[in-house]
Amino acid sequence: MPVPKTRKSKSKRDMRRANHDKLPVPTIIACANCGEPSQPHRVCPSCGFYKGREVIAPKAVAEETAE
Ligand SMILES: [Zn+2]
Repeated sequence: MPVPKTRKSKSKRDMRRANHDKLPVPTIIACANCGEPSQPHRVCPSCGFYKGREVIAPKAVAEETAE
């Protein structure tokens, strides 16, 4: 079984950990329907559109219909 020959310095250990546990920053694009920022391959959070059709009711309209 491979065993490290020498101990790595605190600096090298911390440099390795510095970038490996970070969450990736999500890609943001402008929605094709409303132009609001949204993630690609996701339903737009502001207008509820995906692939040119309404998939979910947008937040503001959903609140209005509930009343
Ligand atoms: Zn949108």
